[in-house]
Formats: sequence, C-alpha cells, structure tokens
Amino acid sequence: MFDKILIANRGEIALRVLRACKEMNIATVAVHSQVDRDLKHVRLADESVCIGPNPSPQSYLNIPAIISAMEITDSVAVHPGYGFLAENADFAEQVQKSGFTFIGPDADVIRLMGDKVSAIAAMKKAGVPTVPGSDGPLPANGERCLEIARRIGYPVIIKAAAGGGGRGMRVVHTEAALLNAISVTKSEALAAFGDGTVYMEKFLQNPRHVEIQVMSDGQGNAIHLGDRDCSLQRRHQKVLEEAPAPGIPDEVRKQVLESCVQACVDIGYRGAGTFEFLYEDERFYFIEMNTRIQVEHPVTEMVTGVDLIREQIRVCAGEKLSLKQEDIVIQGHSFECRINAEDPKTFFPSPGRVNNFHTPGGLGVRVDSHLYSGYTVPANYDSMIAKLITHGEDRETALARMRVALSELVVDGIRTNIPLQESLVRDEAFARGGVNIHYLEKKLGL
Ligand code: ADP
Repeated sequence: MFDKILIANRGEIALRVLRACKEMNIATVAVHSQVDRDLKHVRLADESVCIGPNPSPQSYLNIPAIISAMEITDSVAVHPGYGFLAENADFAEQVQKSGFTFIGPDADVIRLMGDKVSAIAAMKKAGVPTVPGSDGPLPANGERCLEIARRIGYPVIIKAAAGGGGRGMRVVHTEAALLNAISVTKSEALAAFGDGTVYMEKFLQNPRHVEIQVMSDGQGNAIHLGDRDCSLQRRHQKVLEEAPAPGIPDEVRKQVLESCVQACVDIGYRGAGTFEFLYEDERFYFIEMNTRIQVEHPVTEMVTGVDLIREQIRVCAGEKLSLKQEDIVIQGHSFECRINAEDPKTFFPSPGRVNNFHTPGGLGVRVDSHLYSGYTVPANYDSMIAKLITHGEDRETALARMRVALSELVVDGIRTNIPLQESLVRDEAFARGGVNIHYLEKKLGL
C-alpha cells in the first residue's frame, strides 16, 4: 500500500479522501492555493504545501507545481478527486513519468474515454447500448450528413467529440437547419476545445439521467455497484441525486449493469468509474464515461456499504478488487442534496464568511462538508459547500429523513440553495420518482 498520498484537490472531496487515507494509515499531503490555507483538510493533513495563487490555473491546475510538491514531500501517489485535473490524461501521464502513481486509470484510457467518438465506439464494441447516431465523426460532405440525419430521424443533436461540461452541443429539428448547425458547432468546438471533430446523435426528448458506478482493478476483475438517478439538473449541473434509480425493470437494469462490467474488462479499466446514460422508454443510451470518483458517490456508498475511495486507492495501488459481484447487495435507498453557496432564486454565487454552521444528524444522516463556523467561502472556486446525504430502508424513509435533515441544517452568513432543496424534497412528482432531466428547469420556470 502507498505510504503517502498527495491530495490534489480542495473542499469536501479533499476531506473525504483524507479521511479514507487516515483510516488506511496512509500519510497525507494537502496542497492548496493561498486563499485555501484555512481549509479543514489542510489543517488535518500530515503535511501541507501552498502550490500557488488563488486562480486555479496557477494552483490546482498547475501540473509542475503539484509534481514538485510530490517530490519535496516524498509522496508516492496522487489522488485527483473530481474536477480540476481528475480527467486530464496529460497530468496522469506526467505523474507516471515522474515515478509516481496516479489514482485513476492509465492515461491512454482517460484519453480513449475523453474523446466521445472513441468512447462510444469502445462501448458499442463491448455491448453497451448507445444512442443511434453517426457512429463516428461527421464527414465533410454535406449530402452525406443529410443522409445520416434522415436515417437517424429528427430531432438530432450535433456534439463535439472533445466536448464537456454541457458545452459544444446543438439540437437540430429540421433538415433546413442541419448544415449550418454542423458548421457552427464545428467552429465553436475548434475554438473551445482545439478540436473541431463533431458527431451526430438522435436527440432524446424526455430522458432521465441514470448512471452506473463501477470499480475495476485493471487485472481482469470488475464489478458494478448499481445505479444512480441524477435527473434533477439545472444547466446540466446535478442538484439532487439518488440511488438506486427508481422504477427501472429488473431485466433492463441487469443487462446494462453487466454490459458496463464487460466494458471495464475490455478497456483494461482501473479504479472507480461511472458510465452515464440517458434513459427513456425503458431503454438505456450511453452518453459518456467519467474516469474518476464523482460528487454523488456517497449515495452508492450508503446503499452498498462499500467505501468507494478506499477501494479506489487499493486497486490503484495494484491490489486485486476486494469484492466480488455477489458481495454487492443494494440495501434501501439514499438521497444526496448538493448544498451550494448561491442565491436560491437567481443562482448567483454567494461567497463570504459562514458565521455559524450547524449540521443535522441521527440515524441514516451523513454530511460531507469542509465547512466550519468562521470559515470564509472564497469566490474563486465551485460554489458547492456541502453534501447532505440520507439513507433509509426504502425511498420514502430516506426522503422523509432528508426533509428533517434539511430543516436542521444551518449555514449562517451566506445565501445557500437550501430553500430550493427544501422545495424539491416536498415536490409531489419527485416523490413519486422518475422525473426527467427537464423537470427542474420547468419547475423553476426556465
Ligand atoms: P458533457 O460531457 O458536456 O456533460 P454529455 O454528452 O454528457 O456532455 O451530455 C450532457 C447533457 O446533454 C446530457 O445530460 C443531456 O441532458 C444532454 N444530451 C446529450 N446528448 C443527448 C441526446 N442524444 N439526447 C438528448 N439529450 C442529450
């Protein structure tokens, strides 16, 4: 096992990784920007290194600074968390070349999955269901593009192969608009991602977002840990997640879960990963794979009892998976509310000093947060300040627990989206389960 891990992230996920390391008797190094010296995990880590000024490109995205920090602290591995460098193949490669271990899959696997066209091709080969589409980049010939769209049927969506974060996509409803949409998306993709490759997919009208958690040791062993529903989104940002996804027929679920496990074996995947799908009319359609731990991993931990970060660290240290598929039993139901420092109506970020932070508790309640009373939320980074997670023997119990937990949560001094979350956990359609990805924006009148 690793002697010392450097945590190349901040906030709640840095704290989550630190806790796992401590439980495993692994020494920890926190790296932070100037404004982040008071972060909770920085105080709790064995060592800490300031890696640069507040803007992320100069600190949390500064690869040479992070690798230097590994060198001077004798770290042997780096945990990237999510966001920042977590899916940066060049970072993974440089870490490896410098003689350290990147806690994640190999750089070429990150690259394969980072390009959506190659990811879809690899998934299709493994038997993962994909969206009907162009099966590869769109050709330069306009007539051929028109033919592809006719075969798929309108509406279609043009997507950048290198796209991410909900950018580089355009929906097309009519043949007349197709060629112009392709050329605009191409030039936008080239400007934004340095790669103008685009492809075409059937545009699904009212899908849900359902994703599958996997863990794999890169030695031929892979398992799934069930699914999550993350359909409540605003501007492609997840707001409230749950596990398992409600109302999915057993046979449909079983097939997709098994195909994801097969895909992990096929691509030689190592570590924790997520296959993201759109789900409509009892069918799954693969859209992308995230080659890292995700924000919403706790709902899976709650229903499986598996510590995903510990297992991720173990397999990336070269150990075999400690679990077999039959060990994974989904028990009960779990919800996660993302608590953001933002205005609940305008969604404007609301950084500042938290005068008083009081967390709920009790059976089946978990809070993953780096906040403490007196902490100042900086304006420089993501606005998520806490994740409130509940578990119950069934969906109703877990949801009731979330209502109570939210009512106890106090974040004084800044504005938060707690009022929005309170309205969501009281929403009747959400309580029935299975709302689609447009539900939240419609409810908000957007
Ligand atoms: P990104 O990597 O930018 O997040 P994704 O491929 O994951 O891109 O797509 C982001 C979102 O765009 C999806 O969650 C969904 O809301 C919408 N989307 C993408 N592809 C389709 C599609 N074929 N049909 C309908 N909606 C889609």
